[in-house]
Amino acid sequence: MRVVVTGGSRGIGLAIVEHCLAVGHRVAVIHRTVDRAALRALGVPAWEADVTDEPRIADIWRNVTESWGEPPDALVNNAGITADVPILAMELAAWDRIWAVNVTGPLICARIAAAAWIDAGRPGTIVNMASMSGLIVNRPQAQTAYNVSKAGLIMLTKSLAVEWAEHRIRVNAVAPGYVATDMTQTFVDQNPAIGEDWLRRTPIHRMGTPQEIAMVVSWLLDENVGFLTGSVVSVDGGYTAI
Ligand code: NDP
Repeated sequence: MRVVVTGGSRGIGLAIVEHCLAVGHRVAVIHRTVDRAALRALGVPAWEADVTDEPRIADIWRNVTESWGEPPDALVNNAGITADVPILAMELAAWDRIWAVNVTGPLICARIAAAAWIDAGRPGTIVNMASMSGLIVNRPQAQTAYNVSKAGLIMLTKSLAVEWAEHRIRVNAVAPGYVATDMTQTFVDQNPAIGEDWLRRTPIHRMGTPQEIAMVVSWLLDENVGFLTGSVVSVDGGYTAI
């Protein structure tokens, strides 16, 4: 299988890249900055782009297809951002940016992929990285913009799954709980007590690992689960079960 992963330079995205390579997939990464040491070490091609830049993402999709000689079969929309800002203090520009990266970016990447698959008469599969924050309001941090964006991504997942089902394109989402990455470390750096608070609220009493999320993404990509579409798989240590 040939897989494009956005935000694959670190954290959950990098674990997805590593897992895909381990099971024999070809992988290409789209991410924001030029820091790609981990990807270079793995020999994975990486393109620098913002997922909200539609012409650039379309160029990259064409370049990846040309360099592999065949189109990618799968897209993992993993890139995402957050902000711990109470809503009354949040600039609308910051709200717009979170929506753009977490919802519009995945939409842009998904429709470029789907248009190529439909034109070629090929099937395809998309996994969107949502969050338990799209299902419940996790505290104590104030992250309304993030929560709303991930809820939007979940409904985007379901809507695209229905719209594209007739084209043999599956669209699913993963909703992780707290996972140990730079994203969560930023919260802990600002407020060291927050990590203990998160663990107290998580029935399994630990954070997830990026590898545990990557396993589920890999399972969703597998054509043996071809009846799975429009689903949201929670991987959160029981957080949303309470
Ligand atoms: P990190 O902050 O560790 O990594 C984010 C990745 O996304 C990086 O590769 C970054 O690229 C890339 N990225 C960010 N913005 C853009 C953009 N505009 N265009 C292209 N690439 C971009 O995040 P995590 O690994 O923690 O999170 C990955 C996904 O999982 C996110 O969608 C997040 O919301 C979601 N998630 C994370 C949870 C957690 O606890 N960590 C829990 C639930 C969901 P670069 O390295 O170049 O900056």
